[in-house]
Amino acid sequence: MKNPGKEERASIAKKITEAIAELEEQIAQLQTNTQPISPENSIGRVSRMDAINNKGVSDAALSNRKSRLAKLKMALSKIDEPNFGICDRCGNAIALPRLMYMPESDSCVHCAR
Ligand SMILES: [Zn+2]
Repeated sequence: MKNPGKEERASIAKKITEAIAELEEQIAQLQTNTQPISPENSIGRVSRMDAINNKGVSDAALSNRKSRLAKLKMALSKIDEPNFGICDRCGNAIALPRLMYMPESDSCVHCAR
């Protein structure tokens, strides 16, 4: 199996660019949900608890997305390198469907397990 050729890389690059745009939008959205919660009781005790719970969820979602974003940017910067699409661990080519679905993956499906 060979790693992606020029055209395949072009479609992967497009995929990455789209994913980055989507993530940046989600991150911006989540950041508005993760503002510090005011200690005032003006919003009421129950809604304050809700706000704290929501904030916890948003914080986790935010850090997930931030780390995926960093990996995608890394993948995009390496897309023209000769070893792009080669598994870091075993040196085999990563299957194209996997690269399309998860362009940030640096190992093949076998090694990722
Ligand atoms: Zn591998």
